[in-house]
Amino acid sequence: MRQVYLDYSATTPVKNEVVEAMLPYFTEVYGNPSSLYTAGLAAGNGLDKAREQVATLINAKPSEIFFTSCGTEADNWVLEGVADKLRKKGNHIITSKIEHHAILHTCEYLEEHGFEVTYLDVDNEGFVNPADLERAITNKTVLVSIMMVNNEIGTVQPIRELAQIASKHGILFHTDAVQGLGNMPIDVEKLGVDFLSMSGHKIYGPKGVGALYIRQGRRINVFMHGGAQEKKHRAGTENVAGIVGFGKAAELAAANLDRHIEHCRELRNYFWEQLKLNIPDISLNGPEDLESGKRHPGNLNVSFDYIEAESILLMLDMKYGISVSTGSACSSKSLEPSHVLTAAGVSIVKSNGTVRFTVGDFTTKEDIDYVVDAMKTITSKLRELSPVAGMKGWE
Ligand SMILES: *Cc1c(COP(=O)(O)O)cnc(C)c1O
Repeated sequence: MRQVYLDYSATTPVKNEVVEAMLPYFTEVYGNPSSLYTAGLAAGNGLDKAREQVATLINAKPSEIFFTSCGTEADNWVLEGVADKLRKKGNHIITSKIEHHAILHTCEYLEEHGFEVTYLDVDNEGFVNPADLERAITNKTVLVSIMMVNNEIGTVQPIRELAQIASKHGILFHTDAVQGLGNMPIDVEKLGVDFLSMSGHKIYGPKGVGALYIRQGRRINVFMHGGAQEKKHRAGTENVAGIVGFGKAAELAAANLDRHIEHCRELRNYFWEQLKLNIPDISLNGPEDLESGKRHPGNLNVSFDYIEAESILLMLDMKYGISVSTGSACSSKSLEPSHVLTAAGVSIVKSNGTVRFTVGDFTTKEDIDYVVDAMKTITSKLRELSPVAGMKGWE
């Protein structure tokens, strides 16, 4: 059966160049980068190069990049590390209602440990209103954390404006840029952020490696205690091959950025046009503007009226070899409606019929035509079985 992967926001295939860059670090270059002899130095050189490659992608200094075991660790580290460090100054954190669970669940943990968290609302397209941030700030606020690009509905937040508001009040600003990295230009100097989280496996690199950007001079408590790795900021022998792969993926992302964005946007827009032409009673969630940089270039989040998205997902997978997700991959095993769709004002019933399609570098126009055909057949079959199909006021 033909296989079509349309879940690039859950993870991406690892590019061949990335695998090739990694391979020597499993074989010849197996030294411990902390060792002082030649074999250790060779591994250390691999880390140095990767640090430069990742720094270049976001216009940071290599000394500001700290490798972690994943994007989730970077998120946990920054929230707990900054909260702990500044506990005496204040106990208030501001974030949004549509963050990834790596942020939301860490905030809940902090709430159980004496912190107060404000969860900002978003509008129907998923945007945080900068005026809401300004209003939420108190003299106890120590950190603001707003994601750069939402993983479910693709909303690109006005990070520069939000970071400026925090900075004006002398408050540190973090952004979870896992979905933004490699999908839009990122310049930490222009954005004015203090901390930024990244992950390797969302940019055609390996799983199990991420990084936290820490602006020079910003202090944060250590999260992993042990040896002196990562300038005593993150203990544990580095995942050398993984980090080298992440570095190579970052280099490729920087080199291909414009082409990548255009490729994804063109296919995504064509996909949406074809769905609208062929399937009635559907609606788009997230930013309506598909041309500018306000939406992740590869993201399409669509509600199919009268249908359960799980049925679509399973039929696409089993009958057509097509991979998509409902809501976000991380919450797809629970029956709760997506917290993101709920915050964006999508009703629970509509939310239940929502599928996220994300295209990427290996997606072709033929793939899209195949998926549209499959969706046409599946939706009409499922709607034939649905007692509420076509009913007025079914919601
Ligand atoms: C995938 C993702 C993460 C988690 O990254 P991992 O490397 O999988 O831990 C965090 N935030 C966002 C927005 C993501 O999409």
